[in-house]
Amino acid sequence: MTKKEQLYEGKAKKVFTTEDPSLLIVSYKDDATAFNGLKKGTIAGKGIINNRMSNALMRMLEKKGIPTHYVEELSDRDTLVKKVSIVPLEVIIRNIAAGSFSKRYGVDEGLVFDSPTIEFSYKNDALGDPLINEYHIVAIGLADPTEIYTIKRYAFAVNEIMKEFWASCGVMLVDFKLEFGKLADGTIVLADEISPDTCRLWDSVTKEKLDKDRFRRDLGGVEDAYHEIMKRLEEHISEA
Ligand code: ADP
Ligand code: UDP
Repeated sequence: MTKKEQLYEGKAKKVFTTEDPSLLIVSYKDDATAFNGLKKGTIAGKGIINNRMSNALMRMLEKKGIPTHYVEELSDRDTLVKKVSIVPLEVIIRNIAAGSFSKRYGVDEGLVFDSPTIEFSYKNDALGDPLINEYHIVAIGLADPTEIYTIKRYAFAVNEIMKEFWASCGVMLVDFKLEFGKLADGTIVLADEISPDTCRLWDSVTKEKLDKDRFRRDLGGVEDAYHEIMKRLEEHISEA
């Protein structure tokens, strides 16, 4: 399968059509942004790591019953995926307080929750991705109650699978963002990416940050952190 025309260039990926109208190619870039695009930079080799990590995690999730858009890894940076109509929500699951949650509620980063939380942001750059509740999602027609139910069920299931996997790598899954989409027949599947750009991942012992917070907060060692987390994933993931 080859790229035909570029449909979209986002902050971290480009999206291309293919000969098959139901399939797209996503191509991962090294570009990094934070704070709704205000901070820009590049993380050398990030596109390769995010592509390979996202694909490995999606293959693992598929095996455990979560439907995803993943079809085939084509190269270091390119992956064939099922074309979906993206539900314009950022679905955020948290196990430990951090980032905007800590800021909003005045809670120390690192507070471990008894049970995971979920929240939604309306995926709309012009509005700065505002928080949105389920009634508002239905009111403005972003998803219906059945779709929201399915998305929540999958998101919490992804959390349980990923928490266990990352723990086996000596890593705490602090929080992460998922996007879901609809296939032509309306089926909801997990889409976009799961990577150190979209997850907070802390070393279980040292609590060292092994994710995009190193870039957001100018902590240094950004590339090393991406390589370290990829190395741990490769050592522990079972592709059998
Ligand atoms: P952003 O749009 O936030 O800058 P990216 O640079 O990651 O993000 O761009 C990738 C775009 O492709 C995102 O808008 C994402 O919602 C969309 N996308 C991800 N997976 C699929 C898919 N399977 N089908 C259609 N669009 C997708
Ligand atoms: N996240 C993301 N894209 C976004 C916003 C958040 O991937 O546009 C991820 C982020 O990496 C973190 C989780 O979602 O793992 C929760 O982010 P938070 O709401 O704390 O926002 P931030 O502190 O990144 O502004």
